[in-house]
Amino acid sequence: MQKKILEFDVVVLGSGAAGLSAALKLAEKGLSVAVVTKRDIFDTNTRYAQGGVASVTDKDDSFDAHVKDTLTAGDHLCKADVVRRIVEAGPAAIRSLEKYGLHFTKRGEIGEEKNASGYDLGKEGGHSARRVLHSGDITGEEIEKTLVGACRRQPRIEIFENHVAVDIITSAKLGWMGEDFALGSYVLDAKSREVRTFVSAATVVACGGAGKAYLYSSNPDVASGDGIAMCYRAHVPILNMEFFQFHPTILHHPKEKSFLISEALRGEGARLLVRGADGRLREFMENYHHLGALAPRDIVARAIDNELKRSGQESAFLDITGKSRDFLRRRFPGIFAKLMSLGIDMSKEPIPVVPAAHYCCGGAQTDYAGRTSIRGLYVAGESACTGLHGANRLASNSLLEALVVAKFAAEHISANFKGLRGERPSGRIPLWRSGNATNSDELVVVSHNWEEIRKFMWDYVGIFRTNKRLERAKNRIKNIRKEIEKYYWDFHLTRDLVELRNLSSVAEIIVDSSLGRKESRGLHYNADYPDRDPDMDGVDSVIKKPYRS
Ligand SMILES: Cc1cc2nc3c(=O)[nH]c(=O)nc-3n(C[C@H](O)[C@H](O)[C@H](O)COP(=O)(O)OP(=O)(O)OC[C@H]3O[C@@H](n4cnc5c(N)ncnc54)[C@H](O)[C@@H]3O)c2cc1C
Repeated sequence: MQKKILEFDVVVLGSGAAGLSAALKLAEKGLSVAVVTKRDIFDTNTRYAQGGVASVTDKDDSFDAHVKDTLTAGDHLCKADVVRRIVEAGPAAIRSLEKYGLHFTKRGEIGEEKNASGYDLGKEGGHSARRVLHSGDITGEEIEKTLVGACRRQPRIEIFENHVAVDIITSAKLGWMGEDFALGSYVLDAKSREVRTFVSAATVVACGGAGKAYLYSSNPDVASGDGIAMCYRAHVPILNMEFFQFHPTILHHPKEKSFLISEALRGEGARLLVRGADGRLREFMENYHHLGALAPRDIVARAIDNELKRSGQESAFLDITGKSRDFLRRRFPGIFAKLMSLGIDMSKEPIPVVPAAHYCCGGAQTDYAGRTSIRGLYVAGESACTGLHGANRLASNSLLEALVVAKFAAEHISANFKGLRGERPSGRIPLWRSGNATNSDELVVVSHNWEEIRKFMWDYVGIFRTNKRLERAKNRIKNIRKEIEKYYWDFHLTRDLVELRNLSSVAEIIVDSSLGRKESRGLHYNADYPDRDPDMDGVDSVIKKPYRS
């Protein structure tokens, strides 16, 4: 018989860079930790990161420059004090990864510069210096493997795979008086389909982003916004969800829906093309920006989106056939091999690409240490909105944020652990009550609603927004939400149903945040308000679930 109630000092929800870093730091402070993750431990956004981690390590670089670049990208919406704290903690986060065994590529290792020393630093859009540390072109995978290995070696950490967090248990939700405390979480064991109660003095939500709210996304299936939706239901304010970053070039192929084609291809001269009514491919980026295909990421994504909507075509194309096969194989080994496995020879034919949802800048409101409005509830990584990214994320700042905020959260929890444990209200936490009905057409309903949400989010709440499109989306999501809520409480919980409910909730928050912002700023573009409103500098969008009066 499985235990229905489990107790740990801290429960960490999620096994990406944020979750595993927090778990390790907490365990090193002597606390018992559960890592709860909804599929295999490796199923994360972290694992897919290609570029690397932004951090100041070079003598010609400076914290001031990194802070300035971050603030510029964030378009007057970052929190300057948070930016500085996170940027300055970068080098320690890098050292910590190295201590667990991660190897970042060094300059002498990549061929031409045999005697060079120091890290091989990448330069990405918006950075004024080379400051992106990487492990070849599989940085995320190396980080994930390193952290998983360290967690598995740590005796104070217990890992629960295929366990889906359903809701945070708070004293306010149970109707208890006094300060609102996080008491634990309800977690669905996806195999036994039982909901277990995890009791803990602190809970760290590190459930990643919400890219799956959109039809096209670079994110894996786990990115259904669960952390953000759970925090919303716990009455934590959700900030700035209208700022969703779209990557301009994701491979468009029926067998490979999320594969990212690096911006470095355009850096090496790839042209962006779209098929016209006469069937011919033509360039279009000069009509949008003086830098053509090398324009900033959000402008390229918006231009492709506009061209596709105008022409009715399914994809644009990246053409790098001007380079030799040999060069492409050496410069882009991962991309070359992946495309060949799908029958696309990039040296001979253009690559079909679409823009896709990539990174969620908004999330649950926290400070730099992941603290929320609820005592004992912390959020780190892509589920959180610390104020680092503002209206647009600077490339490779997200892994930095996940690592640093997780560490600060762990330090805060351990320093305040006595109070978290001693001052929380005591009482019997009720077991989860699930609906009993089962229904053979449940899967059809789930997949139908899932597809519908992702499609209208793409069409109406994507890269190019208007009031009319947003209003349409609002009407659609309201009806779907009603249907899902009924299903949720009547039927047996499944992982799909939990994810669908969260996805729909996050989609509604994105729509509401977008409707609320009467200007265009950073990643949010509404053609009815095409300009930035200076009065809105530093003003966050806030969506908070009201308490019942
Ligand atoms: C293709 C791609 C390339 C990228 N490249 C870069 C880059 O080069 N540099 C950079 O800085 N950033 C990059 N990013 C962004 C970066 O990878 C993510 O922002 C970061 O990894 C997020 O870490 P996280 O720990 O917050 O979330 P994740 O790594 O996504 O982990 C979330 C975890 O939560 C689990 N989870 C979710 N819901 C539940 C639930 N209900 N119950 C239990 N567990 C749950 C998931 O299964 C997963 O284990 C990239 C992202 C993608 C998709």
